[in-house]
Amino acid sequence: MHEIELLHAIRSAWLQRVTHALTRGMTLRDDLREEMDRLFSLLEQVMQTGDPSWLNPLLQGWSEVMTSTDLESGASSLVEFVRTINATMLETCRESLAEGDALTLISALYPHLETMLVQSANYETQAKITYITNQLNAARQALERLDRSKSDFISVAAHELRTPLTLVEGYAAMLRESWEKKASAEMDRMLIDGIHNGTRRLQALIDDMIDVSLLDNNLLSLNFQPVWINRLFSILHTEFSAVLRDRSLTLEIRDFPGSSEMTFADPERLLQVFRNILSNSVKYTPDGGTIIIEGRKLPGFIETTITDTGIGIAPSDMSIIFETFSRLGNAALHSSGKTKFKGGGPGLGLRIARGIIESHGGAIWVESPGYDEKECPGSTFHVLLPVRQEPPDSRAARLFASLIAETHTSNGEIN
Ligand code: ADP
Repeated sequence: MHEIELLHAIRSAWLQRVTHALTRGMTLRDDLREEMDRLFSLLEQVMQTGDPSWLNPLLQGWSEVMTSTDLESGASSLVEFVRTINATMLETCRESLAEGDALTLISALYPHLETMLVQSANYETQAKITYITNQLNAARQALERLDRSKSDFISVAAHELRTPLTLVEGYAAMLRESWEKKASAEMDRMLIDGIHNGTRRLQALIDDMIDVSLLDNNLLSLNFQPVWINRLFSILHTEFSAVLRDRSLTLEIRDFPGSSEMTFADPERLLQVFRNILSNSVKYTPDGGTIIIEGRKLPGFIETTITDTGIGIAPSDMSIIFETFSRLGNAALHSSGKTKFKGGGPGLGLRIARGIIESHGGAIWVESPGYDEKECPGSTFHVLLPVRQEPPDSRAARLFASLIAETHTSNGEIN
């Protein structure tokens, strides 16, 4: 058949033209040449048999390797690709063959090239539909998870709120009885302490809930002041000393480059972050364990690590625990103890910590070999904070002007 011979005659000229047209970098050229060679052989089969479906597996394969970026960008890359192939095919016919032969081959080839274009548009649409369906499924699953977490959250929050409330109620009733019976002042004091503890726990929980809502609505405002990381930890050391003694835990705070350096940050909020991380380390480390705080200076950042010898965290939970309604588990298992071993909480602490650190322009993450209550592989929380030589707010900068100037002089330059 004359057309087949003509097609055969333009093979190498077309291969050269099409690979040149489709690639810019040399690296891709070999792979692409092989693909084009395959396409040409299939096109010969199509011409011989008159059956365009010979091309389908190749076109389908191409549509399947389209990346999510291709699919997201909305630019129809496969159709564009095939359009270039067709154009180079027609150009090669015109340039490499005599006018009559070119016309013969083009009229024989044209319907197949058209079919190839339509088929690639079909495959591309299918690939897009599959991609969008997968995206929708993932979004639906995320929404379902959020919905479940929200109902879990309500039951845990209700439980968490009820426990201190019951305590307050109980102590108040006992106080009334003691007052009626004119019992000892010592007894009254103990009961008042009980009420005070209960209200403090309620207050802390409500504060956490407000913080989460501020963070979710991007309303958290930071009060930038000079901060020294090692000073924050000495405050926390004092705060935790009684708990550490009760639970026979050792807290080792090491000096590290950057820990005594001044940076601008919100000290109250940073204390809250490290308090949340530390109280988790206390909660999830069995009695007698060790917690080590250290870190390092990185260009423009101070990284602090808090390592414990606790029960560890499963790889699948490592990002979830920083989410709003993370790992709520069963409300009935929540002991409401802030420091008891494995005493559950409402699951807001790390979400708040992440929000505060990210508002500072930093990052927080955890590393752990896994979850094992017997072996206790431990966890390491990393907190990366940018070093700021000045507060972002110009009024605060004026307030701390002399301190800033001093730091600039002592550091020689802003690092
Ligand atoms: P809460 O402690 O109130 O549940 P958090 O947001 O502070 O909430 O922590 C979320 C979850 O992360 C915890 O329930 C726990 O499963 C896990 N977790 C946090 N810190 C540790 C740690 N140091 N060791 C083991 N698990 C931890």
